[in-house]
Amino acid sequence: MTTISTIKNDPGRGLPPAAGAPLLRTEPDRNCPLCPRLAAFREATRAREAKWFNSPVPSFGDPEARVLIVGLAPGLQGANRTGRPFTGDFAGDLLYATLIEYGFAKGVYQARPDDGLTLVDCRISNAVRCVPPQNKPLPAEIKACRPFLSATIETMPRLRAIVALGRVAHESTLKALGLRGSAAPFAHGAIHQSGALKLYDSYHCSRYNTNTGVLTPKMFRSIFAKVRTDLA
Ligand code: SF4
Repeated sequence: MTTISTIKNDPGRGLPPAAGAPLLRTEPDRNCPLCPRLAAFREATRAREAKWFNSPVPSFGDPEARVLIVGLAPGLQGANRTGRPFTGDFAGDLLYATLIEYGFAKGVYQARPDDGLTLVDCRISNAVRCVPPQNKPLPAEIKACRPFLSATIETMPRLRAIVALGRVAHESTLKALGLRGSAAPFAHGAIHQSGALKLYDSYHCSRYNTNTGVLTPKMFRSIFAKVRTDLA
């Protein structure tokens, strides 16, 4: 199922920040203004759905984890509504069931942030922290939000595996690592190695991908089975 490519231009991620380096910012402000289109969409959704989270969705899980899952962006009625990545929509049903199966989460997923579910040696974030219209962030928005992804990665000292869900997450993660996309093209099941860190590619676990057969639960489980084996 997998191809392993070794990325040679490793910028040396994982090294501690140099003395005097500015503190890395992993979470944006609630009213982050960097993407005007997304900020306007956020405001419109706040006005319409006052009880929803409607803010940049923070990462979920322990920074000491060895595994980081990078999704695309919050779903309108999923993470944007509940405030926890992949919580409340179809993508979360498959993701959390798979994480529980492979020991990366424990508890019972009930599609709400107070369901008591915890991640085990695992963290979840998104390439873009604010919900985009039609689930489609613009290139400039992906770029604007990348510093938060870079900081998230840089502040995980034990990180060994990143699972990128979809091409956008894959490409933004590569750039966050300071790597060229041509060195590691996206393909479901591909594994790219940069020093001690491995990047695992998966199709996104969206309803569209599973309904159309692009991604089956078996295909999705195989990614996490491989991560589990490689961490042993
Ligand atoms: S997507 Fe990221 S950079 Fe853009 S407004 Fe939201 S938090 Fe800020």
